[in-house]
This record gives sequence, structure tokens and C-alpha cells, in this order.
Amino acid sequence: TRALRRRFVTHKPLVGAQTEVRAVDGIDLRIRRGETFAIVGESGCGKSTLARLLVRLIDPSEGSVIYDGTDISRISADKMRGLRRDLQFIFQDPFSSLNPRMTVGALVEEPMRAHRIGTRRERRARVAALLERVGLMPEHANRYPHEFSGGQRQRIGIARALASGPKVLIGDEPVSALDVSIQAQVVNILEDLKQEFGLTLIVIAHDLAVIRHMADRVAVMYLGEIVEEAPVAELFTAPRHPYTEALISSIPVPRVGARAGVATIDGEPPNPIAPPPGCRFHPRCPYAQAVCRAERPKLTRGPDARSVACHRHAELSLTGLAPDIAAR
Ligand code: SF4
Ligand code: MG
Repeated sequence: TRALRRRFVTHKPLVGAQTEVRAVDGIDLRIRRGETFAIVGESGCGKSTLARLLVRLIDPSEGSVIYDGTDISRISADKMRGLRRDLQFIFQDPFSSLNPRMTVGALVEEPMRAHRIGTRRERRARVAALLERVGLMPEHANRYPHEFSGGQRQRIGIARALASGPKVLIGDEPVSALDVSIQAQVVNILEDLKQEFGLTLIVIAHDLAVIRHMADRVAVMYLGEIVEEAPVAELFTAPRHPYTEALISSIPVPRVGARAGVATIDGEPPNPIAPPPGCRFHPRCPYAQAVCRAERPKLTRGPDARSVACHRHAELSLTGLAPDIAAR
């Protein structure tokens, strides 16, 4: 059997009145079965668009998304409906993603009905089991989403995403709308479920701290492009892209033993309608040189399974988290 792979060489124009925005531009990623893969970047970098492309909630204008040998960007809507059983999405905002007129039980049962899974009785039993599995109670099935807190609603969203027995869960900022104290609980649930059901998890985040203890590999996105891809520990202790370094420097670290902060990320990300020429990060990069303004660096895979798109990566020695802090 083939490894789970998804490959994208994707351009997604969002066509406005006079403008075309490539929210996601020429991305090539391979995600392995059973791993937790994180996609990180500032808001507006295109990571939500990428997440939606992965499960064909939107269509790519070019390129392909290959899931288990099938190019899901080319199959019929009917075939895609069948595959949705495997590929489920957890939305950022559990307030707006759950239909307020449906009971929790109906919301969790809906994907099973859509995929004609089980008898009504079996589905009800599975709803009860799923609610318990995410830390809610079977009785909650009769209540409505507004009766629950944000964290509980995200648990409902997770139970619903699990209902069809998926192989891949994609979470678009699944915890960023939640209080920090609740975030860890929801992350723990996702990690437990991943083990229990052998899921592949794809997590989108704007915050490196959230995925630090969760991800196996990380892709860092900037203005629609992947600028670095690496195993999580290496990314944190030895970043190779100046943007990754800047993201790491913005993680709050405990005071004792903390190094002095390096460059913070100056300014807003440039307008994606007119990305800067050359390296898109150059207007904010403390290491930029003439070549950076003139030539667009290609994402290059090294022999060590790490990739980076920076003209100067070989000569720069960037600051990551000190190993003792990274281990915490
Ligand atoms: Fe900075 Fe140049 Fe590397 Fe871009 S290519 S990240 S501007 S050093
Ligand atoms: Mg987003």
C-alpha cells in the first residue's frame, strides 16, 4: 500500500474586481500517514486557503492534491463526497461552524447519516460514545450549541469531525479562539484521538507555541509560499529561515535562562495583491542583501530532509530556542 501523500503545485487566484490574489502560490508538500503536520504563519499568509485546498473545500486553479494515490482535485463531486468520510475538517470558530438550530446529537450524527453509516440506533450509540470520548456527556446530545462554552463547542466540533471515522483531520486554528487554559485540554484530546484512531493530523496555526509540543513536522508559510519545512525540534532549535527565527523570537519563554530576544517581526505582512519582488520577506528581513531584492529564492530540500527558501541560509547562523527551553 502506498504512503499517504498529498502534493500541491497550486495557485489559487481569488478574483476581485480588478485584482488577482494568489493566496497560495506554488506549494509542494508531502504529508505522511500518521504524522502531525503543522502549517504556521501570520494571518493572511494563505494557510487557511491551503487547509481548504487540502480537503477540496475550495478548488485549486492549478496543480493537484493527491490523497492516497487519488488526485482529489480532479475527481467528481460525487466521488469527493465519498472521500469526505476520510478527510474531515475542524473549524477555527466553534461558534459559527455549528448550526445553532440543531441539537448536539443531530450535529454529531449528521456526518454518519450523510455517509449512510449504521442504523439509527447504532448512530445514536456512537454519538453518545463520541461525546464521552471528547469529555462531554451523552445527555448533552439533547442540548443546543449555545448552551456550551467555547471549549465545549470545539469538543463538539471534534466529535462531529470524528463521526464518519476519518483518516485525516485538518484543524484550521482549532484552539486559537479558546482561552489559553482551555487550549491545552483541546490539544490533549486531539493527540489522544490521533493515537487511538491512527489519524493523520494537519494543524494550521499562527502561533508556534501552540504546535511546539504537538507537531512532528512544520511548514512555515509567508505570503502564500512555504519558506521552511523541518522536523519540529530542529525547527525550534536551529531555524534556517530568518522569518522562522523571527517567529521563534516572539514566543514567550520563561524568564530564567531566557536569551535576549532577537529581531521581532517589524511591520505588517506586505500586501498579497502586490507581493515584493525577489524574496517576499526582504522588506522585513534583517539579513536582506541586493540579491534578495532581485531574485526569488527557491524552496530547496537539503540531504537532511529539511527545506528552506533563503539565498543566505548557508552562511547565516540563526537563533532558535536554547535546547533547555525547547525541551520544556
Ligand atoms: Fe532574508 Fe534574503 Fe533570506 Fe529573504 S533570501 S529571508 S531577504 S536573507
Ligand atoms: Mg485563517
